[in-house]
Amino acid sequence: MAYNRFWFKMLVCCGFCLCDKLRTMRTSYHTHSRWSDGEGEIVDFVRTASRLGLDEFGMSDHCVIHPNNSRIPWSIPAEMLESYIEEVRAASYEAQGSLTVRIGIEMDYFSESEDAIRDVLAKYPFDYAIGSVHFFGDFPIDEAAERWDKLDQKQRDQIIRGYWQSVRKMAESRLFDIAGHLDLTKKFGHFASIDLSAEISAALDAIADSGMIVELNTSGWHRPCNEQYPSLSILQGCIDRGIPVIVTADAHSPRELTRDFDRAYALLQEVGYVEKDLEIRIAQRNFCKLK
Ligand SMILES: [Zn+2]
Ligand SMILES: [Zn+2]
Repeated sequence: MAYNRFWFKMLVCCGFCLCDKLRTMRTSYHTHSRWSDGEGEIVDFVRTASRLGLDEFGMSDHCVIHPNNSRIPWSIPAEMLESYIEEVRAASYEAQGSLTVRIGIEMDYFSESEDAIRDVLAKYPFDYAIGSVHFFGDFPIDEAAERWDKLDQKQRDQIIRGYWQSVRKMAESRLFDIAGHLDLTKKFGHFASIDLSAEISAALDAIADSGMIVELNTSGWHRPCNEQYPSLSILQGCIDRGIPVIVTADAHSPRELTRDFDRAYALLQEVGYVEKDLEIRIAQRNFCKLK
């Protein structure tokens, strides 16, 4: 790899609770502007993050390098990444006070595209890369409920099993820093009818081995599944393995930047995370643990 991988900066917590909820450094690292499938300019996100008093904000628009080279309309084409990064940099000058702006990317994982993904991540100065599985083969997992409705349960089970196998391979690839919206296959309210605990455990073991962070992505509370990504039992699997967790909104507009964050921190507290577990700062894909 062209970059060094150290550890996450885990800041010493400020040590008090507010309204019974965890009090941590507030970041919002999973965000999409009009560069991919979100609304608003990057600078609008930065201004809102400043106004909300976030400590750190990161832009993470989509980049999909599909193995069959198909153009994905909601993805930044690889040749536009330099302009995207320049725009994040320019917008960061708008940041007031203590807000730090990070350059991120949400990249799709395909085992067939590993080399191409590695090249892109090495070429550009990203602070972090979210690795996400949005496809099972050519089947877009989170595009439309109708696609799932047309399937029989056996086909759904096959997709959900394949999804977890891809997540395991994604972690084993060591290409990414954050595991994006684990459990995405439940988006439209469809769940496996077979026991996939072995596949899920293998994926979480690989994530723990890779040193990746898992996100508690609050957008699931606004989807038909009406549940955060990932489920409570998977979050418990993360804590059992010592996997760090950050709270993200998967914001597709500036107004969603911290949507349901208080609810998410309360849930993490319930699962057993404490403040210091959640004080994570990401910089230039180098991670340090503060003393
Ligand atoms: Zn995603
Ligand atoms: Zn996203």
